[in-house]
Amino acid sequence: MTAPDALPPLAGLTPARLDWRRDDSGETAPHSIAFDDVYFSRHDGRAETEHVFLAANRLPERFADWREARPFVVGETGFGTGLNMLCAWACFDARAPAGARLHLVSTEKYPLARDDLARALAAWPDLAERAGVLLAQWPEPVAGVHRLWLDERVTLDLHLGDTVERLRLLDGRVDAWFLDGFAPARNPEMWRPELFAAMAERSRPGATFATFTCAGVVKRGLAAAGFAWRKVPGFGRKREMLAGEIAVPPADTRRRATPWYTPPAPRPARRVAVIGAGIAGTAAAAALARRGVEVTLIDREGPGAGASGNAQGALYVKLAAETNLQSRCYLAGLLHSRRWLAALDPGGTLFTPSGVLQLAPDDREVRRQARFLDHHSLPASVVQGVSAAQASTLAGLPVDRVGLFYPQAGWVRPDALCRRLAATPGVTFRQSEVQALVPGAGGWRLSLTGEAGLEVDQVVIATAALANRFAQTRALPLQPVRGQVSRLALPEGAPAPRRVVCAGGYVAPPLDGWLTFGATFAPNEADGEVRETDHAANLEELARTLPGYPAALAVAGVALTPERLAGRAAVRAASPDKTPYAGPVPDAEAWRQDYAVLAKDATRVPALAGRHHPGLWITSAHGSRGLASAPLAAELIASMICDEPLPLEAPLADHLHPGRRLIADLIRGR
Ligand code: SAM
Repeated sequence: MTAPDALPPLAGLTPARLDWRRDDSGETAPHSIAFDDVYFSRHDGRAETEHVFLAANRLPERFADWREARPFVVGETGFGTGLNMLCAWACFDARAPAGARLHLVSTEKYPLARDDLARALAAWPDLAERAGVLLAQWPEPVAGVHRLWLDERVTLDLHLGDTVERLRLLDGRVDAWFLDGFAPARNPEMWRPELFAAMAERSRPGATFATFTCAGVVKRGLAAAGFAWRKVPGFGRKREMLAGEIAVPPADTRRRATPWYTPPAPRPARRVAVIGAGIAGTAAAAALARRGVEVTLIDREGPGAGASGNAQGALYVKLAAETNLQSRCYLAGLLHSRRWLAALDPGGTLFTPSGVLQLAPDDREVRRQARFLDHHSLPASVVQGVSAAQASTLAGLPVDRVGLFYPQAGWVRPDALCRRLAATPGVTFRQSEVQALVPGAGGWRLSLTGEAGLEVDQVVIATAALANRFAQTRALPLQPVRGQVSRLALPEGAPAPRRVVCAGGYVAPPLDGWLTFGATFAPNEADGEVRETDHAANLEELARTLPGYPAALAVAGVALTPERLAGRAAVRAASPDKTPYAGPVPDAEAWRQDYAVLAKDATRVPALAGRHHPGLWITSAHGSRGLASAPLAAELIASMICDEPLPLEAPLADHLHPGRRLIADLIRGR
């Protein structure tokens, strides 16, 4: 039997099947074929939302009074067309004071196709602008958490999948619930007792709820889970509905078996230092600044000076044939980076969604890709198998192998991206080297080379392979990995790939007349010198990936010799299990004491929450996939620091925890 909070298989979701029927007012409204129920009434749907969900949760008053540093959190069961959430957003805009923030969390098992969503929301002309924002970021139908940025103050997390399953996986607590979903008689599968128990476990003390129904099963379920309910006047012809609250929600017991992953208690975060201005650090700085935190970004060189400083880099992932936590993190990261880049860079100057072809270089990889395609039901818009002929058409060059095509992936200008993020309002860049981190009353003092120290509330370490140079991070294993890319000036009209193509290495479509390919992979080497031997290795790999390409270039008068190449070498960081580190820094000494018993008997788990260096965080070990993992890691850490719902399921947040190796070593008796 799987644990209730175990992750279900990685899967695409079945989109909602709608028909469009005339309702009582004679206007066409969306109707669910599967549930034989309406999404909203065209005539008075908005007034109904305002009455049932907003007023009964007292949101207009509560938004007006919201002065906490953390966002107000609304949770919903059944996102549907998003009408309720768009109305909550509009109400927040009208009522909330400056500086307040809103976080919307909604589940949906049968997401609408984008065109259906557009048609449904066209019913509300005065919500058109908000609907446009939602539609522009509407996620792929893949089970998981999808974070959307509605505006500067408002975030929406869509938890796609079954409501009960998704609420169990949610790491975050809700202030007000919209208990929606089709009528209980038409959708008994959702309105089961476990739904109310999951809501209770994800509630803040005093969280309220409101629902359109008065069904007995709902009243009994709410009461059994600890919610007090009362009947209040319903909307229109409906005489009654339910509203209420939960005074004392149950404790979160999910980490009883893994208490070391218990998140640290929130603490003030007015001023935060981020050390390291590569993609991990600049993304963390921007994520914090967006939340109103005053950020000092520190690097001994400039933004993007290290491995994130290449002119061109591939945004892609390699997913395991059978689902594992690492692949899930990377897939979530890829989809997240896509939305995040589109929101950051609507003009498309930093990211080109060319798609990425992952060719199978040998029979083993052919079999692995076939197993991957059998094992998952991801939509073709995310990943699809392609024949050699299809791959050739996609690449625009002859290819003789099958592969996987990721339409969502593409290439980025990492150096320009780091500079853009470092210039986010609220981020101050300081060129300096941090020598040591000294804990002080309620915060940290950073000693800087040759200048006065800096006092902050919290610190994020993002210095790749150097991230464990501090006394507090010494126990986190990190390996430097040298990588060199090669660049070739292409004359106009020379043949070139139209997509990123990878096999052993990668080659990207030309940028400003330069073809970039590589990169070498040399663990435990840490120098940044460009070597001709590495160019030669990159040329060999290029010829293996695109066998006809060298000859085609020769016809165009381009000789592929190492001397013609320019390049750049840098050092990336890897963890022993190749999963990034993203989270709080464990107090290794305290863990060794608190969990020493695990060495003798791994089943005797002490009931002690993991002790961390207060207000110290790390994002590192992104290897050569940082464009897919670092932006999500940044969002994860910023959400933890600012006491918000997490952008990943709890088991995935735990998988990224920087202390995982410490526990594994303790259990192995090391
Ligand atoms: N709140 C929506 C709005 O503002 O447009 C209307 C919700 S609609 C009446 C009910 C939604 O619940 C549908 O989109 C349906 O697909 C979703 N749903 C039904 N059963 C579900 C389940 N078990 N898990 C998640 N979503 C579910």
